Amino acid sequence: MAERQRRRQLQKRRKRIRRIRRRLKAYAARGLVLAVCILLCSLIIKSGMWLLKSHEKVEEAFQGARILENKEEEPKGSPLIVLDAGHGGRDQGTSAGKTLEKEINLEVVNKLAEELRDAGAAVLLTREDDTKVGLEDRAEYANENNAEFFVSIHCNFCEEDAGVKGLECYYRDGSSEGEALAERIIQAVESEEQISCRGTRIGDFRVLNKTKMPAVLVEIGYLSNQSECRKLTEESYQKQLAKKLAEGILSTVPPSS
Ligand SMILES: [Zn+2]
Repeated sequence: MAERQRRRQLQKRRKRIRRIRRRLKAYAARGLVLAVCILLCSLIIKSGMWLLKSHEKVEEAFQGARILENKEEEPKGSPLIVLDAGHGGRDQGTSAGKTLEKEINLEVVNKLAEELRDAGAAVLLTREDDTKVGLEDRAEYANENNAEFFVSIHCNFCEEDAGVKGLECYYRDGSSEGEALAERIIQAVESEEQISCRGTRIGDFRVLNKTKMPAVLVEIGYLSNQSECRKLTEESYQKQLAKKLAEGILSTVPPSS
């Protein structure tokens, strides 16, 4: 009797073990299916993101072309000035906290355009919104439109010394016309006490090297300097800056209309 009971118990145990094995196999199969599903999903998401990115790149490539086509619309007034708000889109330029260079550049350029147009000049902008435009496209745009002046607006940053502040006006090495334009701008800016000024400098910038007309790049101030950074975000200071920059640009070539 005892032998038969032992055998039955043994058979029961074997059955239980087989059941457990079957369950484990079923779990493993389900796990495998789940893993394959996750892998497929992540592949689909990744390829979707890649497609989106390549689409953005195509769009960016068209932006330069779109801008060059704008020359069909003849701007009224004289002289013809191309204003260039530095950076844009994913290229934010320099920054301090939430203050982004690309935004300040565009705000100042818009105010400067208004000042120049009010004075009778014709103004074209390399960018009017938060889009990325290639450096060569910016210069080419000014060349294609036979602009008489090219003015690029940027903000500076000094990592080593937060005390450094002031506006700087850069021109291409060897360009006497660029140098004269830079000097006129600095003269006008220096007459406004509110604006710190660091004078004219030679600059090796693509937009200066590729443009054919008198061209300057104005670093309107340092975002690394707390007080100057705050001023640069203020509407009234931006207007002051725009007024003085316009005065400097137009000081030797008065608008005809
Ligand atoms: Zn910049």
